[in-house]
Amino acid sequence: MNVVKENIEVRIYPAKADMNDKCEKIVNISAVESNIGIYRFIYNKELEFINDFKRLLLHYGYDVDKIIVNKKSCDVILHMLRQEYSFLEKAESSSRQQSQIDLISAFKNYYNVNLKAQHPVYKSKKNNKDTFRIINNRNNVRIEKDKYVYDKIKLAVLGLVKFKTSKKYRELLHRGSDKNDPTVKIKHVTVKKVNDKYYAVFNIERIHIPKKITGSLQQVGIDIGCSKLAVLSNTQEIPNLDLRKEAAKIIQYQKEMSHRKPGSVRYQKAKKQLNKWYQKLIRKRNDYYNKITTYIVKNSSFIAVQNENIIAWHRNRHFSRKVQLNAPRTFLEKLEYKCQRDGVEFIKVPQYFPSTQICSECGEKNENIAGIGNIGIREWDCPHCNAHHNRDVNASKNILKKGLEMAVGTTVQ
Ligand SMILES: [Zn+2]
Repeated sequence: MNVVKENIEVRIYPAKADMNDKCEKIVNISAVESNIGIYRFIYNKELEFINDFKRLLLHYGYDVDKIIVNKKSCDVILHMLRQEYSFLEKAESSSRQQSQIDLISAFKNYYNVNLKAQHPVYKSKKNNKDTFRIINNRNNVRIEKDKYVYDKIKLAVLGLVKFKTSKKYRELLHRGSDKNDPTVKIKHVTVKKVNDKYYAVFNIERIHIPKKITGSLQQVGIDIGCSKLAVLSNTQEIPNLDLRKEAAKIIQYQKEMSHRKPGSVRYQKAKKQLNKWYQKLIRKRNDYYNKITTYIVKNSSFIAVQNENIIAWHRNRHFSRKVQLNAPRTFLEKLEYKCQRDGVEFIKVPQYFPSTQICSECGEKNENIAGIGNIGIREWDCPHCNAHHNRDVNASKNILKKGLEMAVGTTVQ
């Protein structure tokens, strides 16, 4: 039994106009926009106050790095702001608090020498994600039926909003809304705006009971490739997704943007298209990776992968574009996350382990296929035991062996 944290993103549709009547409140676009604005406003005003105070201290010769930004000091500032600006009362109270919590943690990161974070900067309309966050206090974020008995999301005092999501997510959110169901809890929700579309990202905690392993893939080694996404030690190959169309569109609109005057109508148009295709690519890829990783994890009890030197691939001109498109690191992260969630043992074999050069039959090293120059050799015969090998399958078999060795701490013969 594991407690797992998950983010569930659903599209929401705030109403264009004010549609409130006596019995129910509907979230409209202007309410969402004003919360986004207020979130930014509080962050910036509090930061401005702190910066001014620092400047004053500096002027009188004090050490400014010693001032501490915490909840107590920020509460005072927020209190003053609320007296001065009455529109702040329109925001949901936990979202007002959240803005300040984010500022405090930005300062915490700045003071932490290990993180090497930059001094907090003002949030601008242009280069920041438009978001605000509501903490779920006493079930004020939940799924609720509207007066026509349709499911709506209730966003605290903001009211009800229409949404769309998969059956699975809908069911999870229903369970999170049910007080009598202790297995799923909605912790908080972030409302965000991307390309003029609105989304609610639910942060949930749920108790996960791993399923019994029934498939054939009990123990598996995985070689992460470039021409193929992955090759498994049971000789199964997982191809890369064909992203040529999306990539071509992205390049096309990038080019178009570079030929237009920044800020012009045509520039904005191209930018919108670029964002659209970029989101499409990411969505398509995530969907594919989710399916593949679920399949592998569902059928395995032990997984070993080689933590490949992906940065080195980036430097290699033959690979870099493919790597950027296919993001093998995202694949690995998803795989690792699902293994942890489902209680499957996950081992990373170190980079320096020469998985491609060792013969998985006799264990001898074949120096002839080492190096980037010999990457074209797809199949070879072992000079010691004459075993015939497919390069990638052999590598994944070695990765599995090495992973099992590392797991038990002894050599497997
Ligand atoms: Zn051999």
